[in-house]
Amino acid sequence: MPLCDLAPPHIRAIAPYQPGKPISELAREMGLRDADIVKLASNENPLGPSPKARAAIAAGLDEVARYPDGNGFALKSALASKLGVNIAGVILGNGSNDVLELAARALLGPGTSAVYSEHAFAVYPLATQAVGATGIEVPACAWGHDLAAMRAAIRGNTRVVFIANPNNPTGTLLSAGELHEFLQSVPPTVAVVLDEAYGEFLDARLRAPSVSWLSEFPNLILTRTFSKAYGLAGLRVGYALAHPDVADLLNRLRQPFNVNSLGLAAAAAALDDSEFLARAKAVNDAGMAQLLEGCERLGLGHIPSHGNFVCIEVGGHATERENKDASVATRVYQALLRKGVIVRPVANYGLPAFLRVSIGLPDENARFLDALGEIQEQA
Ligand SMILES: *Cc1c(COP(=O)(O)O)cnc(C)c1O
Repeated sequence: MPLCDLAPPHIRAIAPYQPGKPISELAREMGLRDADIVKLASNENPLGPSPKARAAIAAGLDEVARYPDGNGFALKSALASKLGVNIAGVILGNGSNDVLELAARALLGPGTSAVYSEHAFAVYPLATQAVGATGIEVPACAWGHDLAAMRAAIRGNTRVVFIANPNNPTGTLLSAGELHEFLQSVPPTVAVVLDEAYGEFLDARLRAPSVSWLSEFPNLILTRTFSKAYGLAGLRVGYALAHPDVADLLNRLRQPFNVNSLGLAAAAAALDDSEFLARAKAVNDAGMAQLLEGCERLGLGHIPSHGNFVCIEVGGHATERENKDASVATRVYQALLRKGVIVRPVANYGLPAFLRVSIGLPDENARFLDALGEIQEQA
């Protein structure tokens, strides 16, 4: 029997994660120059990294021959003091993807289940399946999490509920009140992983006081990342905040040096750069307005988004999506590629009529809208 056929069935059944197309790959395929390509496909920060992070990376180069601080002390203490939490409740990850997987590996396994929403971040089903647990996908409500249905979906063997707020790829947001009520309703034997990868893009009045909930709910695991608003996606740094006992459990599973030294240094420096963060939010707010205005002009619908991306309905209205479906969105996606614009198809998220577009700089957003307008004219 071939070796791979002997792998556990739940591993063989994993569908690979589909990342945004890299610029270099499109350049190769289409014979374009990297500089002529606009990538609005992975919710990256169009400003690049903060100047403070750049300086920290340059200064850190001399140290790359040494192993990083496996305990990540400097970054963890910076996070603990900024957020007002116990350092023993901070877990660092190689991206927040890493801490999501640590939570799954620590709490899930065969015979257990995890609950997540339809159209939610793809890593939740992947992390669940990778450890042989059962995924329970709960139908969405208005493209977002239906918390009442998710509460009702919790079974006796459920150990984790995953919630993304705002959600990727839909950009939907739950209110603080809804989330708090949900946390109160969930048994303490079920961990609630609240993924706030896009929290920094929210207006202050829309932000949930989630950190303050940690002392009230020992089953709450908050995850955050330096990949999006902080502009450090390539360095892979994320973190979780949890009860110290939960943090201890996750830390025991972690690779000893899971976060690299340049990432640690850059993240600590970026954490201090509130001016950069404010600029990233301002660029995002303006870019979102620009994209939505453009979509309206082109007669295209969208899912209202609180993230640094928006799902645009290019495949006909969602109600007709049985007919005008993936084929239209796929055609538009490919036509955009030919014009050097990379966006993200989301059919694998159950959104076949949509394309997800990350907010870029003003000229990048304009390139996308111009290309989309030309494609519409030709159709
Ligand atoms: C991008 C994203 C993450 C994590 O990204 P990392 O780069 O691994 O930190 C986590 N959750 C959601 C919902 C995301 O969109």
